[in-house]
Amino acid sequence: MSSRYPILALAAVLVACRPAAFAQSDFKVTLLGTASPTPRPDRFGPSTLVEAGDQKLLIDAGRGVPIRLRQIGVPMGRIDVLFITHYHSDHVSGIPDVWLTGWLSPPFGRRTAPFHVIGPVGAKSLMANLEKAYALDIKIRLEDEKLPPEGIATAVEEFDKDGTVYEKNGVKVIAFAVEHGAAIKPAVGYRIEYKGRAVVLSGDTRYEPNVIKHGTGADLLIHEVGSARPELMAASVPVQRIIAHHTTPREAGMVFAQAKPKMAVYAHIVLLSSEKIPEPTLDDIVAETRQTYAGPLTIGEDLMSFEIGDTVTVERYKR
Ligand SMILES: [Zn+2]
Ligand SMILES: [Zn+2]
Repeated sequence: MSSRYPILALAAVLVACRPAAFAQSDFKVTLLGTASPTPRPDRFGPSTLVEAGDQKLLIDAGRGVPIRLRQIGVPMGRIDVLFITHYHSDHVSGIPDVWLTGWLSPPFGRRTAPFHVIGPVGAKSLMANLEKAYALDIKIRLEDEKLPPEGIATAVEEFDKDGTVYEKNGVKVIAFAVEHGAAIKPAVGYRIEYKGRAVVLSGDTRYEPNVIKHGTGADLLIHEVGSARPELMAASVPVQRIIAHHTTPREAGMVFAQAKPKMAVYAHIVLLSSEKIPEPTLDDIVAETRQTYAGPLTIGEDLMSFEIGDTVTVERYKR
């Protein structure tokens, strides 16, 4: 090997010397976006990539998903299925971008099969109306760029109760209802099983026993969290309403303590503030979680990844 690439050479040696116990798993989760609707340069809209064997599943598609996928070298055209948790715009606003840009001919796109979407009732209407909204772009690119018509077609499946919603080549996805608020229905979480291991996503929810039921014994339990400082909670009815739609760190700790995942992780971190009162810090979130939970806990970041093997290995994104 050329001495011009000493770091690559070292990496090759390290990979070659990896003990069997730490062999790379083919079950991996990457947080693509961990924010709330608040526009932040460091945290994009909610979205999670789950790679199991040769399948790539996307759970929600918030703001900026195509950029995050590009950063980790996953072509949008390679996404096998998009699963939707609920229809708040921050969870679905990236869908037209993934769908349309994933059809283009450069290497980041190249989808040649229908865009497969699975979600609770509402998915068919959403995709049918996106097809209407972008009809002119689709017509233009079919005629001008001669892109394959199958690549922009959609294949949408809806469900209205808990149960298995996807099963292929050893990957099983189970949807379960969660409680995000009386007016915010449907709302679901997902449990993804592969080779006897499980990754569970809470979706957006209040403290929810169904997350404990489906999350029990999971390798990775990805949970949302919402928090505001006590003085802001006391002063603002809208803040109280938003927090009531989410799970506080203390409540999430109660979920984790009962479900006992190998690793608990916060994604979709909703931190509220006002002009006078700052948002809670991530240290505040951890401290409050520790009131009810002492087990493994990670504060998610965009592009943080988790390898699901005998243990759960957490890796931060190296820029
Ligand atoms: Zn929501
Ligand atoms: Zn949300």
